[in-house]
Amino acid sequence: MNHPRPTHAPLTQFPVCDDCLQIGGMPLTRLAQRVGSTPFYAYDRQRIADRVALLRRHLPAEVHLHYAMKANPMPALVQLMAGLVDGFDVASGGELKVALDTPMPPHRISFAGPGKSDGELSRAIAAGVVVNMESAQETERIAALGGHLGVRPRVAVRVNPDFELKSSGMKMGGGPKQFGVDAELVPDLLDRIGVLGLDFQGFHIFSGSQNLKAGAIEEAHEKTLQLAMRLARHTPSPVRLLNIGGGFGVPYFPGEEPLGLAIVGQNLLRLLPELRKRLPEAQVVIELGRYLAAEAGIYVCRVLERKISRGQVFLVTDGGLHHHLAASGNFGQVIRKNYPVVVGNKVESGERETASVVGPLCTPLDVLADQMEMARAEPGDLVVVFQSGAYGLTASPTAFLGHPAPLEVLV
Ligand SMILES: *Cc1c(COP(=O)(O)O)cnc(C)c1O
Repeated sequence: MNHPRPTHAPLTQFPVCDDCLQIGGMPLTRLAQRVGSTPFYAYDRQRIADRVALLRRHLPAEVHLHYAMKANPMPALVQLMAGLVDGFDVASGGELKVALDTPMPPHRISFAGPGKSDGELSRAIAAGVVVNMESAQETERIAALGGHLGVRPRVAVRVNPDFELKSSGMKMGGGPKQFGVDAELVPDLLDRIGVLGLDFQGFHIFSGSQNLKAGAIEEAHEKTLQLAMRLARHTPSPVRLLNIGGGFGVPYFPGEEPLGLAIVGQNLLRLLPELRKRLPEAQVVIELGRYLAAEAGIYVCRVLERKISRGQVFLVTDGGLHHHLAASGNFGQVIRKNYPVVVGNKVESGERETASVVGPLCTPLDVLADQMEMARAEPGDLVVVFQSGAYGLTASPTAFLGHPAPLEVLV
């Protein structure tokens, strides 16, 4: 029996010239010379700008676009984003510092996370960013810290909704969760926020990540807006901020298709008039990390050895899971699947073969591609992992086995 094997969605974001991938307007081989060492991550600023423009085309004009920094907190990239998006979402004091180093105004920055320390909260309150509160205890701590600082904290309530984002790669809301305040407990917390005199801004409702199904996102948006309108009956002041999450996915694996962004945008256009009637002061925000950064980035490593073991080809490279845990299949995958991988200086070259790309670590988990079809590679050739601009370097165990960390460049 011969079933057609599912293939990777076509990757068209980087041109190919003389069989070499072009990134940032130059051949990959030249970029590798410029960087001076492998492995490295490269992020293409034009691709990031294109992605923001695509979102602006499809989403209603009144919706603000925030960048969720944990996807890629490289300071140069965050600076670039500051000029393209309307706000940032940070998830730690470290990310907050990077965000505050940009021209982004503090009231356009929000800070979420289930375990914020007093130090992080104090810095956020003093900075004037919006703290997305995730529990009743946190609300009390924020009020006390604001009192000490002599600053009225700007706050929003992160709600753990009473529904799930269907078909998402990572569920972050619905059912029992460490994130946010259970929707049914929010009315009491809103009363308390009024008593404490906090500067209430609105709601943050984020239900999941890496979703490729427009229908599931449509449904989540509808339920999110309904939930916000229901909870708004209990707020101490009008809702000014309504962060409806994001979760837009990108295709990584064979058989996956890009998200139907036009459908998501049309649906929001249909839903927003009622919200505008009921909550006229509410600024709707969509927060995206992966969708903004993933496709603009590549991870590049060099073939050290070409090894044949019992008939199978292994390309042993200087890069691996210590730099790119997600591509190795060990960051939230249940069944290991291959990221799109090519030989970057021989993208479409004549001789092709099936090969596995592995790293230098002494563990069988250190695999970047498992028996994939690619150009025949030799030592010195450059292996490229696509879709690597989000959850790459900072989501990887760089200290494991003591190899140097890779460089990152924005081109
Ligand atoms: C991680 C996270 C995001 C970003 O998710 P992506 O899938 O990268 O878009 C957005 N909001 C919150 C609260 C998060 O925790």
